[in-house]
Amino acid sequence: MSHCILQIALDTPLDSLFDYRWACEPGSEPEVGQLALVNFGRREAVGLIVAVKHETDVPADKLKDALAVRSQLSPLPERWIALARFAAAYYHRPLGEVALPGLPKNVRLSTTVALDRALKKLAKLPDAHDPTPADMPVLNAAQQQAADAIGGAQGFSPLLLYGVTGSGKTEVYLQACAQVLARDQDAQILILVPEINLTPQLEANIRARFPGVMLATLHSSLSEGERMLHWLAAHTGRARIVLGTRLAILASLPNLKMIVIDEEHDPSYKQQEGLRYSARDLAVWRARQLGIPIVLGSATPSLESWHHAQTGRYRRLELRERAVRDAVLPRVKLVDMERDKPKEGLTSALMQALRLRMERGEQSLLFLNRRGYAPVLCCEACGWISNCTRCTAFMVLHRPERRLRCHHCSLEMRIPHACPTCGNIDLQPLGRGTQRIEEGLQALFPDARILRIDADSTRRKGSAQEAFDTVHRGDVDILIGTQMVAKGHDFKKLTLVGVLNPDTALFSQDYRASERLFAQLMQVAGRAGRAGLESEVLIQSRYCQHPLYGAVMRHDYDRFAGSLLEERHQAALPPYMYQALLRAEAPELATAIEFLEAARDAVPSDTVVINEPIPMTMTRVHNVDRAQLLVESNSRPALQAFLNEWVDALRAMKSRVRWSLEVDPLDI
Ligand code: ADP
Ligand code: ZN
Ligand code: ZN
Repeated sequence: MSHCILQIALDTPLDSLFDYRWACEPGSEPEVGQLALVNFGRREAVGLIVAVKHETDVPADKLKDALAVRSQLSPLPERWIALARFAAAYYHRPLGEVALPGLPKNVRLSTTVALDRALKKLAKLPDAHDPTPADMPVLNAAQQQAADAIGGAQGFSPLLLYGVTGSGKTEVYLQACAQVLARDQDAQILILVPEINLTPQLEANIRARFPGVMLATLHSSLSEGERMLHWLAAHTGRARIVLGTRLAILASLPNLKMIVIDEEHDPSYKQQEGLRYSARDLAVWRARQLGIPIVLGSATPSLESWHHAQTGRYRRLELRERAVRDAVLPRVKLVDMERDKPKEGLTSALMQALRLRMERGEQSLLFLNRRGYAPVLCCEACGWISNCTRCTAFMVLHRPERRLRCHHCSLEMRIPHACPTCGNIDLQPLGRGTQRIEEGLQALFPDARILRIDADSTRRKGSAQEAFDTVHRGDVDILIGTQMVAKGHDFKKLTLVGVLNPDTALFSQDYRASERLFAQLMQVAGRAGRAGLESEVLIQSRYCQHPLYGAVMRHDYDRFAGSLLEERHQAALPPYMYQALLRAEAPELATAIEFLEAARDAVPSDTVVINEPIPMTMTRVHNVDRAQLLVESNSRPALQAFLNEWVDALRAMKSRVRWSLEVDPLDI
C-alpha cells in the first residue's frame, strides 16, 4: 500500500493548513473538497481536504494518519473552496474557520450515522423537476422591464433593483426566477433576506409559485436535522431555489445561476462576530466568480450600492410606483412634540389618527426602536441610576418580567424596592420603551386589540411567526414594535404608521446614523397603504425642520442619497475610503490601548492612514474594556496589502490581549 499526503483545513484560529498521511493505491487518492476525519490535538476533528500531494515538510515521525475520508458526500466544488479562500483572505481569517462553520454540524461530526440518515431521507424525497410557475400575475410595464433585464442578463451582471416600498419587487424576483429555471433545467437560484422573520412570507410565495420545484431554506432556527437535509439538497443540486439569511451565502450550490439579495441595504447582512463578513459583498464576489447575474433589491439602497449604480458598475432598474392598483405612497407628516406635548408617549395628533383607524377597522403600527419598559430606572432623591455593574450601560427596566436587564451582558436582577443608596422607595422609570407604550395604549384605548412585537415578546420559537400571522389575519388593531416590524412585511390592512422617538439618531456620532435612520423611516413608512387604502405616517419629533425628515416627507431617496454621498466624499468616508478596524479587549483599558499603540507602530505605511487608538463608545462590556484602532486607505488593494503584513505582525506580537480585525466595519 502506498501513501498520499492530504492537506487539510481545520476549524481553528491557528492560521495554517495541516498535513496528514493517507494510505491508498495510486490513482485512488481522495479528492480535493472531500471531508476527512483526523486527530487534532487531543480531539478528533473533521477537516476539509484542500490539496492532495505526495510530499510534505512534516518530519515522518510527526506525520499522523488521517482516520477516515467521508466518501458518502460528493466533494465540495472547487469554486466553493475558492469562495472560502477568498473570504478567508479578504477578512484575514484562517481558511478552516471560514470553510467549516458553514457546514451543518452533522456533516462535521466524527461519526457518520447522522450523515447517512440524512442522505437516506434526501434520496426518498420526490424528485421535483417541473419549473412551470403557477398563476403568474400580470406585471406592470416597469416590473416587466426589470424582470426581463434580470432574466435575460448574461454573464456577471450586478443589477440594482431600486423600487419604492410596495412596488412589487418580490414579483420581479419570482418572474426572473421563472425565466432562469425555464431556460436551464439544472439551474439553482439563491435568494437572501435580511431577517429570519421574513422567510415564511417569501417561502410561501415561492412554494405557491413553483409547486414543482424543490425549495430549501437555510437559516439559524432550523433544527440540526433540518439544516442538514436542506444543506444537502443544495449541495447535491436537487434544490433549485435556496432561500436563506446571511449564512446561506456560504452554502454549496454546484449549479448556481442567479443570486437575489432582498433589502440589500440591511445591516443584518453583516455578521457582527467571529468572521465579520458581509453576505452581500460575498454574494457579489460569488456572482462575479461564476459569471452570473445578481439582483440587489431595495427601496433605500446602501450608499455603497447606490454609488456603484451612479458610476455604472451596477445597472440600475427602477420601480417608481406601487404595484397594486390605486396604491400610492403614504402621506408623511411631522408632529411637533414641542407644541403637541405627548401623553403616554403619544401626541394628540397621533391619538386622533389612531382613533380614526379604530373607527374604520384599519390597522395601525407604532414604531419605537427601544425594547423594555424604560431604558433606565432612577432615584430622584439622590440621583442613583440603574447602571450595569459590568458595562458602560444602563440596566433596562422590564416591568412585565419584574426585572432589570442589561442588554449587553445579560446581567439581570429583580427591580429593587427601594433606592440602593438612599432607601427612597419612589424609584422612577425614565424614558419609554415598547412595553411602556403598550401599557399606555391599553389605558388610552381599552377596546383596542394591541399587540407588541419585539425581541422580548418573541423569545419562544415560533412565537414571532404566530404574532405576524395574527396581524395578517386582521386580529390586531394597533401593532407596536421595534425594527422587527419595520421591514419587508406586507400588511394589507395597515393604513397608519406612527414613529415615536426617532430624534436621538439625528445626533449620533456614528457617521452612518443618518443613512440608517432614513432607511428605517422609509421602510417603516412603506408598511402603510400597500393594498390601496389611503394611508399616512406621523413622525413625532422635536426637530421637525431637520432636512432628513424633509426628505422622508417627499419620499426623496435620490436626492438625500446624493447629498449623503457628497458629504462622505468631502469627509473622505466610505464608499470613498476603505476601512478596517482593529479591536482589542482587556480587563483594563490601558492594556488594550497599549496593545493598539504597539500595533499602530508595527508596520509603517505610506499608503494607509493609521489612526490613534481610542476607547470604544461603549467602553466596558461584561467587565472587559474595549478599544479600537481604525486604518483606512483610498485604495482597497493598498489596504489589503497592508493588512496582510499587519496581521502577521500582530500574530507575532504574541500579546495576551484579545484582538480582532474587521474589514469594512459598519460601526466605528
Ligand atoms: P416590495 O417588496 O417592493 O415592497 P411586494 O413585492 O411586497 O413589494 O409587493 C407589494 C404588493 O403588491 C404585494 O401585495 C403584491 O402581491 C402586489 N403586487 C406585486 N406586483 C403586482 C402586480 N403586477 N399587480 C398587482 N399586484 C401586485
Ligand atoms: Zn436614592
Ligand atoms: Zn451589562
